[in-house]
Order: sequence, then C-alpha cells, then structure tokens
Amino acid sequence: MSGPGYQQTLAGLGLAAEGYRPGTPPANPIGGDAADVDGPAARESHCPECGSTGREYRPWYRPARMFQPGSYRAFACCAACGHVEEF
Ligand SMILES: [Zn+2]
Repeated sequence: MSGPGYQQTLAGLGLAAEGYRPGTPPANPIGGDAADVDGPAARESHCPECGSTGREYRPWYRPARMFQPGSYRAFACCAACGHVEEF
C-alpha cells in the first residue's frame, strides 16, 4: 500500500467521476472562505475512529458549468487510521 489509507477512501467516493478535483475553488464565493475555516478546523480536530489529534484537510471542488453551479466539498482525513469524514 502506498500513502495514507484515506487516499483510497477518498478515491472510492467517486469525486473525480463527478467532476470534482482536489483543491479549493479559486475566487469562488462557494468555497473561497471556507478553506480558511475548514483547514484549521481539520488540523485541530480529533479522529472519531482512533482519537488521534490533527487530521488532514482535503478540499475538493467542481467548477461551475452550464446549468450547474460550482460545488465544494471538504474532508477531514486521519493519517493514523485512514478515517475520512466530510464536513
Ligand atoms: Zn483515526
């Protein structure tokens, strides 16, 4: 296995297939400021699965398309046990 276990969990969510890509939306009102809140929140949070402190912030976004607004989803990922939780 390569990398933390949560990489596989995130891949299993099928975000890429829905048009999401890793990162925060650039200059997008949906997620522009959320990263400032969600990032520190993830790093200061506790994993509900194993109790370790300080999870990694993994934002995803989907650019706006015709008839479809942009979308932002953020996940707190535990490097210790691989647990993934969406904000
Ligand atoms: Zn954990």
